[in-house]
Amino acid sequence: MQSRRGFLFQAAALGSLAAAGLVVGRQRLAMAAPAQTFEVQHSDAQWHQLLTDEQFDVLRREGTERPFSSPLNNEHRRGRFACAGCQLPLFASEAKFDSGTGWPSFTAPLAGAVDTSRDSSLGMERNEVHCHRCGGHLGHVFDDGPAPTGLRYCMNGVAMVFVPVTA
Ligand SMILES: [Zn+2]
Repeated sequence: MQSRRGFLFQAAALGSLAAAGLVVGRQRLAMAAPAQTFEVQHSDAQWHQLLTDEQFDVLRREGTERPFSSPLNNEHRRGRFACAGCQLPLFASEAKFDSGTGWPSFTAPLAGAVDTSRDSSLGMERNEVHCHRCGGHLGHVFDDGPAPTGLRYCMNGVAMVFVPVTA
């Protein structure tokens, strides 16, 4: 009788553990899925009012600007590159480098400023980079960058605005 009760107790404990594991697993799956809600959200009509056509195409439609078309390629002052959609600071000028690609390039974003998701479009496997606050598409990140990170954040200049340090 005693061992039977012990077995039942163990089975119940294992059962609840399994149930707990299942819940954790579901939550992990939900967190791993692309985030659909952002702190800053607008309808397409509202974004059209806030952005230029070029900014809308890149930020909201994952477009790509023509290489060497952005004035930010030649921006060498101290400051921060912020999201053109929500003004969240994304990159510090200290992380910028000349990749020769024709797109503003950085070794690292500011902490918590961007998120990445897998992008299988155009027959390539790439890591898409978007703004943490509004979800706006910024560019892609590649692992062929220079020290210290070895990463190359290849950004569309039109998706950002430069804010110089005024001190
Ligand atoms: Zn943003």
